[in-house]
Amino acid sequence: MLAATSRVDQIETHPVDVLVVGAGGAGLRAAIAAHEAGASVALVCKSLLGKAHTVMAEGGVAAALGHVASADTWQIHFRDTMVGGKLLNNPRMAQLHAQEAPERVRELEKWGAVFDRTRDGRILQRPFGGHSHPRLAHVGDRTGLEMIRTLQDRAVAAGIDVYMECTISHLVTGPAGVTGAVGYWRTTGEPIVFPAKATILATGGIGKAYEVTSNSWEYSGDGQALAYQAGAELIDMEFVQFHPTGMVWPPGVRGLLVTEAVRGEGGILRNKDGERFMWRYLPEDRRAEYAADDAEAARWVTALSAGRETDARRPPELSTRDNVSRAIYNEVKEGRGTPHGGVFLDISYLPADLVRRKLPSMYEQFKELADVDITKGPMEVGPTTHYVMGGIRVDADTGAATVPGLFAAGEAAGGMHGANRLGGNSLSDLLVFGARTGAGAAAHAATLPPSYVDPVQVQAAVRELAAPLERVDGEDPYAVQRDLQTMMQALVGIYREDGDLGTALDRIAELRARWGGIGVSGGRTYNPGWNLVFEIRNLLTVSEAITRSARQRTESRGAHSRLDYPATDDETWGHRNSVIRRRKDGTMEVLTTALPKLPGELQTLLGPAAH
Ligand SMILES: Cc1cc2nc3c(=O)[nH]c(=O)nc-3n(C[C@H](O)[C@H](O)[C@H](O)COP(=O)(O)OP(=O)(O)OC[C@H]3O[C@@H](n4cnc5c(N)ncnc54)[C@H](O)[C@@H]3O)c2cc1C
Repeated sequence: MLAATSRVDQIETHPVDVLVVGAGGAGLRAAIAAHEAGASVALVCKSLLGKAHTVMAEGGVAAALGHVASADTWQIHFRDTMVGGKLLNNPRMAQLHAQEAPERVRELEKWGAVFDRTRDGRILQRPFGGHSHPRLAHVGDRTGLEMIRTLQDRAVAAGIDVYMECTISHLVTGPAGVTGAVGYWRTTGEPIVFPAKATILATGGIGKAYEVTSNSWEYSGDGQALAYQAGAELIDMEFVQFHPTGMVWPPGVRGLLVTEAVRGEGGILRNKDGERFMWRYLPEDRRAEYAADDAEAARWVTALSAGRETDARRPPELSTRDNVSRAIYNEVKEGRGTPHGGVFLDISYLPADLVRRKLPSMYEQFKELADVDITKGPMEVGPTTHYVMGGIRVDADTGAATVPGLFAAGEAAGGMHGANRLGGNSLSDLLVFGARTGAGAAAHAATLPPSYVDPVQVQAAVRELAAPLERVDGEDPYAVQRDLQTMMQALVGIYREDGDLGTALDRIAELRARWGGIGVSGGRTYNPGWNLVFEIRNLLTVSEAITRSARQRTESRGAHSRLDYPATDDETWGHRNSVIRRRKDGTMEVLTTALPKLPGELQTLLGPAAH
């Protein structure tokens, strides 16, 4: 094993044009695009190839193909996305996303993805919350698996170099921006260096900052924290999506996602008194988009099951995620929850074979993990931390971050989804902006000579990696992680208020001090405790960014709900993105910048919804 004082020229080194950190949908699509543009590419992921979050995606990928509702267009998709994001989205990103998603989905089909079909053989589309029309191309409830399989085949066939079980822990900077990265093999603990003309961060989200989450261990905000350390801006970090339906029982699987496809296929939410409570929570200004009563909602479900278009409007369960999450939270808080602190979600009134065919993973998940047959009775569900709308600020067209040489795509990037993401809009985001960012990074790399990485920074990174192994009697990393997650869940959760957010910042400072004293036993080989140390470092950065942004935004909007500022304040906040930057002294600065201007033609598309 290399000691902390090892010479930099002894470290395994791979110079490339484009380094892609993360091999989920965004990273894979970016790597393919950069390769096609003629760049040499290294694709790095901290687990095995194919095990990213994208593979867990269930419900589908949103694209206005118009196969089920012929009236659907990119313009309506754009409007839905902006309205769902409470108009805080970067309008150019929302436009490119809506315009290009259909082509990216068709391309995936050409590359071998086999989607569910309509009766006349076209890609089938299902409804989801906040989408005006059935829009999600899907493969049962295993869409992400098909997407990853297809992209992975394409990337491997193209001969792209893949570095699996390899964590990027530090970016290296120079006068001209980011010049590469340092990481280590998880298998051996040996360091590795990638001098790169362009570095793309496609590392996904931040869910592991919270106690209850649908996310796996991989979502520790690595990309956001690395970008911040390198001087890039993060935007809108207060907007963390709490998905309304995670499992609540048994405790070992609390937080595991119950796909929105259950509600998309007709699932009904009820409280312990049997009341279909979502009728009470529909926002008045959008009430006309939803069914008038149970009978109209039932007509909508019947038409959907038969694959027919209908004039019936959608059921109240298909309100946006932020709204449904708050509704469930309130029902439980006011004493109308289930025995395990959730509400009931029932799809058992539909034919059992239809439920098993449309929702095979959900059927197995509940049968295996909770001993519940969802074709015979309701599921118990409650909110779970799921997605971060905020992230690394990027240029819409190229994915360039605010530091030269650095790019970002997928969940790690911010701007596309505003204050709240619509279901299905992440998989399409990965495809559209993965492709654009890969091309953008390759174009940037084509202008540059081979990259030089500063050996002093590499040496400092290697020393930081070694430090916890030298503190054998230090603090347990698992205890620090648990305390951070419990604190974020309690103080920076679905509802926030100034006092709690102030306390959270004090706690984060204490936890950061404890982080400096973490020690791990054992060596570097397959040592998850040692790996966790650097994930906690990143989680502390993103937790502080979330908390500072949440404290600054004195209004409620989308996924950000303030008890002390319950109203949406368009005048002060409607045109402002929250921005996080690192000051020269290493402390975190929070400020706001004006939202990019909405061009006239897009304003027209939004109609009365526009500011
Ligand atoms: C259970 C579940 C269901 C979902 N269902 C849907 C759905 O139906 N439709 C939809 O649109 N969205 C859905 N989402 C959201 C969507 O799946 C994610 O937002 C999306 O897959 C993120 O893709 P990504 O490429 O940005 O990141 P990921 O797919 O998570 O990939 C991140 C990659 O980065 C790597 N990585 C991270 N840190 C490092 C590091 N330091 N060094 C090296 N590699 C690193 C990881 O190993 C991984 O390869 C779902 C999410 C979950 C959790």
